Amino acid sequence: MINLLQLDRSALGDWCEQQGEQPFRATQLFRWIHQRGERDFTAMSDLAKPFRDKLIASAQVAGLPVASEQVAHDGTVKWLFDIGNGDAVETVFIPEAGRGTLCISSQAGCAVNCRFCATGHQGFSRNLTCAEIVAQIWHAEFELRRRLHLAAGERAVTNVVMMGMGEPLQNYAALVPALRTMLDDHGYGLSRRRVTVSTSGVVPMIERLRDDCPVALAVSLHAPDDALRDELVPLNRKYPIAELLAAARRYLERAPRDFITIEYCMLDGVNDTPAQAEALLALLRGDGTAERPGLACKVNLIPFNPFAASGLKRSSAARVAAFAAVLQEGGLVTTIRKTRGDDIAAACGQLAGEVQDRTRVAERRARALPVRVAAPASRRRSGDALAPGRRP
Ligand code: SAH
Ligand code: SF4
Repeated sequence: MINLLQLDRSALGDWCEQQGEQPFRATQLFRWIHQRGERDFTAMSDLAKPFRDKLIASAQVAGLPVASEQVAHDGTVKWLFDIGNGDAVETVFIPEAGRGTLCISSQAGCAVNCRFCATGHQGFSRNLTCAEIVAQIWHAEFELRRRLHLAAGERAVTNVVMMGMGEPLQNYAALVPALRTMLDDHGYGLSRRRVTVSTSGVVPMIERLRDDCPVALAVSLHAPDDALRDELVPLNRKYPIAELLAAARRYLERAPRDFITIEYCMLDGVNDTPAQAEALLALLRGDGTAERPGLACKVNLIPFNPFAASGLKRSSAARVAAFAAVLQEGGLVTTIRKTRGDDIAAACGQLAGEVQDRTRVAERRARALPVRVAAPASRRRSGDALAPGRRP
């Protein structure tokens, strides 16, 4: 049985052809699934009976079982989806005036292991399939349409951010067809500027995304220099800041917007000093030299959302405001992210789901040193033991 959520429209066309059907049948079928949320083939009235029988015999539209659902005071909804074998992933819907943003997970856990991230603390279990990524928007869109009594043609999800659990660019093969389904006019019809991939900096995959499916890009920077970023985002040891910003600059050639979003999680006493704000400003503005070319970007400061065991604290509001002021006065558009859904642990970096850690990250963490502000720059360019699939 093939799960049709696994296929973007072009792959569905190939599959239909293998079944002896005309390619336009794939478009009809795709619209039933992704525009009407239909999973029952017998209800797909404009498909010929023999094709419907074939579908019933060999295909299904299988969403993910909902393990739990929580609704926050501010209307944020968080679903926990059971993906089997003790793993579960989270999806968050954030309603705002005139738009609804869905925050989607790409992996069960994450192998990047950022110090300040609840998902990273859990270790890594596995990549989600394309079907499991698409099932998140499929469920949210049609469940919310029913609940909010939306008229035909009205959409619940107007924006998608790949900012849930996992590093989307370490699950590239599943990510791209899932993005294509979200962008497809016969699918969710989202414009490229309304779909954002957020990455901790998988440089080669930023290059590939630029060519394959250039949606809006957010880069999780979190530090103005390599010494600190090596500690906060271990992937930096493999792809340091200069290479990351160079990839981001090249991405802009194809990006749907003329800026990259820079995310910066504000950690008390770690990366939030005025000197660090100045260093970040110098890095991002650049000075026109080849050494410091800067980057066309907007900065989004994210007050750290604490979770037990992180050992880190959120920067005070005054500290965040002072940091933002330095960037703004230096000419960088800077916003401070409003925390949403924190009463149900649905805020950035709080998503933890349930993950069977297959990388023994917790064990390694116990041996690791606490985060320091000034780290010794022992740079190990090839020593990234945290790439997915590798066992320590
Ligand atoms: N792996 C991707 C996308 C998922 S994380 C990435 O790292 O970009 C989405 C955003 O939430 C990232 O910018 C991440 O740095 C941030 N984040 C992670 N943990 C956080 C926390 N505890 N508090 C606030 N933001 C956090
Ligand atoms: Fe992974 Fe992103 Fe969390 Fe880092 S911040 S551990 S890359 S999910």
